[in-house]
Amino acid sequence: MGLNTPMLAPPSHPLARLPEEWAETLAGWGEPAYRGKQVFEWIYKHGVFEPRRMSNLPKSLRERLEAEFAGLPLDVSRCFPSRDGTRKLLVQMGDGAEVETVLIPQLERDPDIDPADRADDRADGLVPGDVVTQCISSQVGCAMGCVFCASGVAGLKRHMTAAEIVSQVLVGKTYLEGGEHVRNIVLMGMGEPLHNYDEVARTLVLLTHPLGLALSKRRVTVSTSGLVKQIDRLAEDFGGQVQLAVSVHAVDDARRSAIMPINRKHALDELMACLRRYPLPRRRRITIEYTLIRGVNDRVDEADQLASLLDGVPAKVNLIPMNPIDASELGAPDDRAVQAFRERLAARGLAAFVRRQRGDDIDAACGQLAFKGEGPRKRARRSPQVTAS
Ligand code: SAH
Ligand code: SF4
Repeated sequence: MGLNTPMLAPPSHPLARLPEEWAETLAGWGEPAYRGKQVFEWIYKHGVFEPRRMSNLPKSLRERLEAEFAGLPLDVSRCFPSRDGTRKLLVQMGDGAEVETVLIPQLERDPDIDPADRADDRADGLVPGDVVTQCISSQVGCAMGCVFCASGVAGLKRHMTAAEIVSQVLVGKTYLEGGEHVRNIVLMGMGEPLHNYDEVARTLVLLTHPLGLALSKRRVTVSTSGLVKQIDRLAEDFGGQVQLAVSVHAVDDARRSAIMPINRKHALDELMACLRRYPLPRRRRITIEYTLIRGVNDRVDEADQLASLLDGVPAKVNLIPMNPIDASELGAPDDRAVQAFRERLAARGLAAFVRRQRGDDIDAACGQLAFKGEGPRKRARRSPQVTAS
């Protein structure tokens, strides 16, 4: 198979079928192949999930489809609107498990928007306020145990299926306002996407399928804490077309291992070597995420070390002042320290942006998404103790 059609594990839910997989299923029911494309388009292009409303299908087929699935595998149980236009949706799945997804309208003054993307949006008649980035979850909780992250402290409850992951986008459409369109997807909600590789790979194909939502591959971002083997797999399956964001957060192994247990498995050298071989298209850069934690990783000389570490990696750096979480005393440095860190990176020739706090009044900021219930305290005690020095 070519680069743009990775080998995928079989769909685990009818909603996650691709047009050709629908065609195959429907052929078994004695239907012509083109019906596969029609069903897929109803779901992913027209946003119609109830077979009875798929008006160009024969009644008998609609009834049979109804027995296969009826609607999305999740519901929005609450919507939290922020004063800054951000909306956080609390989503409940069939087994009662909850995750969150966030709709974030672009601001005119957002600093790190790719000019090519902005030009595309303008060509499609969209002004910045219409362009929405949706942050989606890929797991209920997370197994990676990063000490600054609510999902990590909570631990992993279960993986999400591709149907569930993609349904956050389908259901999110109901919560768009005016001329808003979701043009960017970031897998930066709850979970480590590459720990759930098969379902996430299928999600990427579904989101970018030209017959459906048709999102641009470079506007779908997979954010990872650094699962090296799976980054290589993503590189191979998608030819480097999908935007990669990597959480680095510390410049030496001791510090990184203390806040991100994954570093004990894949140390910084190994991770950097992996990023250097990622097959980036020309003029594109990997996003390096660096959560600034007061007294832990915020010294200006660490900005220098970060620049050296990233030598040979085409990178732009997103600095995220740490958002407070219940389970930890760790917090953000003051604005001056954040700016000093950014300026030192810039002086070293690195494009560096401070990620604006969006939706902080509704706990929708990075790292604040956590499922409720299930004793996070117990997990927190098992995490390595990190204190600000
Ligand atoms: N699991 C993936 C993606 C989810 S989190 C990953 O770790 O990359 C998206 C980003 O938010 C990551 O860079 C993550 O490290 C960061 N983050 C987590 N908790 C945070 C917090 N409390 N404050 C600021 N950033 C946080
Ligand atoms: Fe998981 Fe990412 Fe949170 Fe780490 S930062 S615990 S990898 S969601």
